Amino acid sequence: MSETNKLENDIKIPELQHRNFRDDEFWKKIPAWSGVKREEFADHKWQVKNSIRKIKQVQEILGPLCTPELMSDLEAGQKITPMNIRITPYVFALINWVKPWDDPLRKQFLPLGSQFLDDHPYYESDSLSEDTDSPVSMLTHRYPDKVLFLPTTICPVYCSYCTRSRLIGGSTETVEKETYGANQKKWDDAFEYILRNPLIEDVVISGGDSYMLTAPQLKYIGESLLKIPHIRRIRYATKGIAIFPQKILTDDAWLQALTEVHEFGRSYGKQVVIHTHFSSPKEITKWNQLAMERLFSRGIIVRNQAVLQAGVNDTVDSMVKLTRQVGFMNIQPYYVYMHDMVPGCEHFRTTLREAIELEKAVRGTTAGFNTPTFVCDLPGGGGKRHVASYEYYDEENGISVWKAPYVKPGAVFTYYDPIHKLSPEAQKRWQDPKMREAMVKEAINKVS
Ligand code: SF4
Repeated sequence: MSETNKLENDIKIPELQHRNFRDDEFWKKIPAWSGVKREEFADHKWQVKNSIRKIKQVQEILGPLCTPELMSDLEAGQKITPMNIRITPYVFALINWVKPWDDPLRKQFLPLGSQFLDDHPYYESDSLSEDTDSPVSMLTHRYPDKVLFLPTTICPVYCSYCTRSRLIGGSTETVEKETYGANQKKWDDAFEYILRNPLIEDVVISGGDSYMLTAPQLKYIGESLLKIPHIRRIRYATKGIAIFPQKILTDDAWLQALTEVHEFGRSYGKQVVIHTHFSSPKEITKWNQLAMERLFSRGIIVRNQAVLQAGVNDTVDSMVKLTRQVGFMNIQPYYVYMHDMVPGCEHFRTTLREAIELEKAVRGTTAGFNTPTFVCDLPGGGGKRHVASYEYYDEENGISVWKAPYVKPGAVFTYYDPIHKLSPEAQKRWQDPKMREAMVKEAINKVS
């Protein structure tokens, strides 16, 4: 049997489904793109030009596939969501438009009015207190040796679950945002702060999304940071590899700039890596695998950070497949985050118990270094903690209490399960503000 035949037979085995990367012309099922050739679909400029920015385009592109019920639900979603619409043709075409209601990709990028739930009483628009821990514009400094640098507020797609919905993607009907683009003066101020703080060794360049930086901007930021003597590591954060792999495949100038920063880092003995954001196996195809081959052949390391979302990746099967499939593409599964307590996301959130059980199920399915750590990024700025490292968990009322001894010594943090997942009695207790306060106080007292 030839090697190719053997591989084809192997991927029919259920345990090896993660080696199966779809390579069909799936976009041709979308009426407006039925005549789009593979070379056109591969072109990063075509992907940008045809990205969906307005809800009425959904109808224009889908034609008869878009029912009146779906359209009115999408329009209702736009009146509630804190995020604008932006979705690449690549992701749009992967949605199952025959059954869009349950589709994990539709859920992440095109919210429906019918899916929203009331925000949790203790939600915050800046749940992680990034603005509080910001010493200069565009920079968050929480961990002693690491900073988060946010040079842009735009992304190639806008995710309904975005933790920075207060900043990203422009104002919506419900949220006024102070968005910004490239501003070299402010970037230089951030670099000056990093230069003056020798404890900092690690910079995450996020946003927004590093994909939206031009090739010269990518180089300017990377090389400016790597020239700072105490900086040892930089990571470009981008969801791009997951939702727009065509850019890696056809935007040679951008990939060259990234490669040059990577080589520049190596010449200084410093790491330059990418952190990306695959959330569901549904968004993985041959295009992502080819993009990863291009990055890997240049020696560029990629790690994955997924966000745990109900109806997207909260089953053992989807999480195991996601873990093994990104690992197969030479992407290291790094974190799975519990959903932050930000507005417009209650329907996505899971309980702490669900996260703990999922991690138990995933651990052991592959090598430990290729297994993601499930974390809760503590509301109020305690940083990321392993899901099982809480100090106290009142599961009946959905209240967990945490400490972060190194990040905020002496402080106590709380995370709350979504109320709709609690028992009817507990849901009733949460309706009463006095009872709610008493429950939280009692939980905190258990650890103080
Ligand atoms: S790509 Fe990241 S920053 Fe941009 S909208 Fe999605 S989650 Fe938010």
